[in-house]
Amino acid sequence: MSPLTVNCDCNNVVLEAYELDPNFIVCHCELCQLVHAGPGFGAHCNGIKIVQGAEFITIYKSHRVPMASWHFCSRCGTKLYFAFDDDVWRSQHDKYVLSVGALHGNEASKEVAKKLRMTREAFYDLKPPYYEFREQTDRLSTEQTAEYYKTMSQADAANPIENESWDSVYRDMR
Ligand SMILES: [Zn+2]
Ligand SMILES: [Zn+2]
Repeated sequence: MSPLTVNCDCNNVVLEAYELDPNFIVCHCELCQLVHAGPGFGAHCNGIKIVQGAEFITIYKSHRVPMASWHFCSRCGTKLYFAFDDDVWRSQHDKYVLSVGALHGNEASKEVAKKLRMTREAFYDLKPPYYEFREQTDRLSTEQTAEYYKTMSQADAANPIENESWDSVYRDMR
């Protein structure tokens, strides 16, 4: 599959995403509500390459979600993607989560966006009561979300992290 070119609204940042998973996840956590002004829509992918405008990218780590860092355009505010930390995400796959909304920056990526499917909702117990999606999804509680990422992050890993240290990853969110 050829890489997908993504650009932000002001076009200063251009990146390529590799092997995007068409089944995306919605996140209802507090950080998503804050930075996305609503739930976060994210599609996992196996790699991100910045093609242009690296100097415009702000990398932000929140105390609310300490195991990953958010990357956004400092000029126009487009949320580009987030990446799990290397010390937590030991699998070679799915470490990057591209913002589904960022696919609206060019015509080709818009076409890709049309083929995506909402299949999971993370932190469903944190979802505010003022919205709800009609799609049939796996609705994961906070506990189930932790379990889901634990499995995914260690899949096929040469040196998986121990259960106890993984548990602290999510414990630290509180
Ligand atoms: Zn921009
Ligand atoms: Zn979230």
